[in-house]
Amino acid sequence: MKINAISIDFIDGFNEAARSTYPDEFLCMTRQFDGVITEMLMLPGTVFGDEHSFLNTWMAPIDYSIAGSAHSHPGYCNMPSDADKDFFGNMGGVHLITCQPYDRSSWQAYDCHGEPIELEIVY
Ligand SMILES: [Zn+2]
Repeated sequence: MKINAISIDFIDGFNEAARSTYPDEFLCMTRQFDGVITEMLMLPGTVFGDEHSFLNTWMAPIDYSIAGSAHSHPGYCNMPSDADKDFFGNMGGVHLITCQPYDRSSWQAYDCHGEPIELEIVY
């Protein structure tokens, strides 16, 4: 499944969750339908911490609609850390990082190698 778009409702909800989790990181998995990321998928076993979130992927259901992950940074940088890149590589898919001020322009999508990618926004 090629992921090429993201819904604006997802972006708004993701940033809202990031704001309410601040100063901790928010982390969830994402779901796509027809190549559009539309849904946050909260998993049991997700720990929020101020250093780095830990997502227990063993808790993930076997679900082929899973697109990747989405998480927030408490600062003003939405670049993936080395730990983020390891995680992206292990998981595959498309990953989103948002940062302060958690608005519609503060996020970036990355492929599983941590390289920035463009997603079309669906309104
Ligand atoms: Zn990160």
